[in-house]
Parts: sequence; structure tokens; C-alpha cells
Amino acid sequence: MTEKIKGAIIQRDRETYAIVPRSPAGIVKPENLENIIKTVRKYNIPIIKMTSGQRMVLVGIKEEDIDKVKMDLGMPIGEATAPCLHYVQTCPGTAVCKFGNQDSLSLGLEIEELYRAMDLHAKLKIGVSGCPRCCGESYMRDIGVFGSGKGWTVIFGGNSGGRPRIGDKIAKDLTKDETLDLIRRLLEYYWINGKSGERTARFMERIGFERLNSELLAAIPYIPTE
Ligand code: SF4
Repeated sequence: MTEKIKGAIIQRDRETYAIVPRSPAGIVKPENLENIIKTVRKYNIPIIKMTSGQRMVLVGIKEEDIDKVKMDLGMPIGEATAPCLHYVQTCPGTAVCKFGNQDSLSLGLEIEELYRAMDLHAKLKIGVSGCPRCCGESYMRDIGVFGSGKGWTVIFGGNSGGRPRIGDKIAKDLTKDETLDLIRRLLEYYWINGKSGERTARFMERIGFERLNSELLAAIPYIPTE
């Protein structure tokens, strides 16, 4: 995928584009859905595709329609290849699911709000799950979080792509504030020590958990030393 026009992805036919309206935590409001349907019909957009990141991609947009489609949608448009937060994938958690230990939807929305405008070395995906079953694919995302009866567990450096990697478990039994603080510290550390284009999985393979532990984690008071 390439992104010659910001927020629009050229398709295999080399003529049409796809755009991805942002749907934080996979939630879409009725008014957004109505706008999407109206816009898709108005511009004869042939495909609406659900992605693994809980987003809707509108596929087959003519180049001359891209700006008008964005305007008619009236929704923030997500990035496809830019080095930034692409999405926060979130399971329903205690809002809906009978297995939920923690409120993953609220946490996922808060994380999206905090980091959606942040520049990074590479694209970043976050998965938040309300219990250890990890329906939000927390171990396979750059940053993963899942809930238990004792709090939140944070994972870093996962990837489900061509070179998959299970993320490193960084800390467990955290409060929500500790979880948000740890995510901030991890992103700052990655920003300072990472390289341009380097995803967190490759970053962790290069620096290793021991270095992360000695330079960052050992200094964080709420992470227990074992
Ligand atoms: S991870 Fe747990 S809380 Fe979330 S949907 Fe799956 S079973 Fe439910």
C-alpha cells in the first residue's frame, strides 16, 4: 500500500483509492453509519470492507472524489502507512462481555484520544482486552493491554505481520493510571531509542528485554522486582 494522497491508499487497479474513517475502539455511531451509507451511494463506492483493526475501509474511490468523500463523511480519517497510531483495537470488556474483568472499551477510547496525533518511528497498533482471553489480540500488537481480576497487564513489541512476534509482558496488576503512565513511558523510550521505520517488534529484538528492563522498567516504582 502507498499513500500518495494523505489518508488515501492507491488500489491494485492503480486508479482508485481507499480511505479509512476512524472508528475508535471499533465503535461507530448511528449518525456516522448513516453518513457512510449516504456517501457510499452518492459516489458509487463499490466496497465497504471491515478490517482486523475494527475499521471500515471504503474502497474504489475515484481520485477526483477523495476530498468530497472526506468532507461528506464528516469523520476523522485514519492513516494507512504513516508513522503514527493507526488504531486501538478493543474488545467489549465489562461493558458487555460476561467474561470481562476490566473496562477495556473505556481504556481503549482514552488511549486513542491520548495518542492519535503522535508522530512515531513507524505505524503503531494497540490492542486492549478486558480479560486474559485477549480477544483484542493484545499479545500481537505493538502495545497490548489486558485485564484480570487484579488489574491490567501491559505487553510491548508484539506483531502479527510477515515476521510475527509475541510481545514481552512488561508488568501486571496495574491500576488504570499506572497502565496509562507505563504506556507513555514505553512510547517515550521507543521514541528516544528507536530508529526511523522500526516497528516495536524489531526494536525489542534489537535492544532486548534486559536493556529495556535496566534502562526503563527498573526505575518505575509500581513495577514489582521479582
Ligand atoms: S477478551 Fe475477555 S472480556 Fe474481552 S471479549 Fe474476550 S472474553 Fe470478553
